[in-house]
Amino acid sequence: MATAPKPQTETKSAEKEVLLRVEGITKIYDGTVKAVDDISLNVMKGEIFGLLGGSGCGKSTLLRMMAGFERPTKGKIYLAGQDITNLPAYQRPINMMFQSYALFPHLTVWENIAFGLKRDHMSKDQIESRVEAMLKLAQLTKYAQRKPHQLSGGQQQRVALARSLAKSPQLLLLDEPLGALDKKLRETTQLELVNIIEEVGVTCVLVTHDQEEAMTMASRIAVMSEGYFQQIGAPDEIYETPNSRSVADFIGNVNMFEGVVTVDEPDHVVVKCDECTHYVGHGITGNLGMAVGVALRPEKITLTKTKPKGEYNWCEGEVVEIVYFGDHTTYHLKTKTGRVIKAQEINNTRDLSCGLTWGDHAYMHWGDLAMIVLTH
Ligand code: ADP
Ligand code: MG
Repeated sequence: MATAPKPQTETKSAEKEVLLRVEGITKIYDGTVKAVDDISLNVMKGEIFGLLGGSGCGKSTLLRMMAGFERPTKGKIYLAGQDITNLPAYQRPINMMFQSYALFPHLTVWENIAFGLKRDHMSKDQIESRVEAMLKLAQLTKYAQRKPHQLSGGQQQRVALARSLAKSPQLLLLDEPLGALDKKLRETTQLELVNIIEEVGVTCVLVTHDQEEAMTMASRIAVMSEGYFQQIGAPDEIYETPNSRSVADFIGNVNMFEGVVTVDEPDHVVVKCDECTHYVGHGITGNLGMAVGVALRPEKITLTKTKPKGEYNWCEGEVVEIVYFGDHTTYHLKTKTGRVIKAQEINNTRDLSCGLTWGDHAYMHWGDLAMIVLTH
């Protein structure tokens, strides 16, 4: 029978060069709190790697160990092949940018970016050319003489990033970098940060609890829970092929069905649930009679007023809620078992396309590759 999913450790390093290598790292606080539990990971040169998970799952602890602010209880960290596990933070070619990015309020943008360079006793000419380059990169040249309070939140964020990049770190660590910004500003700033990061080509580890932020910014994501990695993959892999009920549920919206495998063939399986019978157009690693979860995302469901043909992949219900989002509408349908299923329709015409209203009886149907069968 199904056992708990194995924590994912990442071993495949592809053809790309590994910049940061984390090996079996564990952090136990005060002898009892296991914040990070035996995590291994390769971060490739030039990539933006996302650490995604709910509050308290150990994201910041893992990042702080990479930065050198926290000593691991067990395990090793290598940067470009060199063991940096016991190297103090200030000796690591790593910079960390926090959520409260704390620009110096009495210094201009120019001086804020120059601050760390001056401390490093760089020559005046070198500082000048470096600051100018950073201003240009972050499109802040015309704000060079402003103080932080004379800038918008997004502009302040870019100053903080320019300051973090001024010393040309090999690795940039971002802990919830956009937490202080409102939704609209976050979205534009996300793209601006990615553009800047990609232009300088710095390798980046980004911590966030916001799955959309991880999806838009990161090239790969590790979904974290209780100190370990549940899954590592590209954003579309995590979204379309989550490896467990909890990852499917954490990333995006999902309808979860519980059922039993009644047909188990190499090229298809049938899963019987209370509400409907799923015909899945591929084989699974499971066996006949096995209890499985079937995850179905709302956007994969089509709504109609007429009954679909055949016995598979549809379900009927009554419209109990309609939530209009502008670009799409989510319909909540209550099935005969009393549970509510969400179906999402794109509003690609200006009249609501499927023409359903509260109290209507309707059918939901989906393709045989729309769902994900989960054994964990
Ligand atoms: P996240 O960043 O994902 O919210 P953290 O890494 O901050 O999570 O925390 C992970 C766990 O470790 C939590 O249970 C938290 O309470 C605990 N923790 C974090 N920092 C410390 C600390 N300095 N001392 C003791 N416990 C800590
Ligand atoms: Mg944190």
